[in-house]
Amino acid sequence: MRIAVLSDIHANLEALTRVLRKVYESEPDLIACVGDIVGYGPFPNECIDLIRQQCAYVVLGNHDGGAVGRVPPKSFNTEGRIALEWTRGKLSASSREFLQNLPTSLISYNATFVHASPRSPQDWEYVATLHTATEMFEHFSTTYCCIGHTHIPSIVSADGTVNSIREGQKHLINVGSVGQPRDGNPRASFALLDTETTAASIIRVEYDVSVTAAAIRQAGLPEFLAKRLQYGI
Ligand code: ZN
Repeated sequence: MRIAVLSDIHANLEALTRVLRKVYESEPDLIACVGDIVGYGPFPNECIDLIRQQCAYVVLGNHDGGAVGRVPPKSFNTEGRIALEWTRGKLSASSREFLQNLPTSLISYNATFVHASPRSPQDWEYVATLHTATEMFEHFSTTYCCIGHTHIPSIVSADGTVNSIREGQKHLINVGSVGQPRDGNPRASFALLDTETTAASIIRVEYDVSVTAAAIRQAGLPEFLAKRLQYGI
């Protein structure tokens, strides 16, 4: 089973559209999304509609939860809170209902899908170091566990190897962010994995950052949210 996994779209429609085009070129059997469809960006309903149409599996991200009252506002930074307030005012009834009913984790085709960590999906912890990553392996039993949340892509094997696939081992894959990469590379990120041949890769996609930045400014969202896209921070 070849699965394309997207995360942290953050209402960036331009990035999502480009990524989906690239995903179709790789002809996966299915597409999964590990959360944060909304928050920070200017097109929440449009991105939710596309994800609903295209993804076989979707799990809740902390910003998705924040937009519908499932995650408290105090757990977000200032820009995040302002953007979530704005997002709440924009969500259609059908978008709200969709986010309200998303599960926090899913297991299918030898892969676990969760936004932040398999150890405690609803605590939104950051798997930001190799040490923390290695602690995750006792919390999933599938060959792959796909996460997002840090917006920094990586592939970690159970033996601590980074960014290569080890035959017969479990792998923790941070698929990176479609709509707000933070690894100093502004290109959108997603992962492609094959559950039969044990292959996985991170794919980067160029998109027109200025289109999203202009829409963020036009929506009156914080300037930093427009600026950071240009630098991938
Ligand atoms: Zn995020």
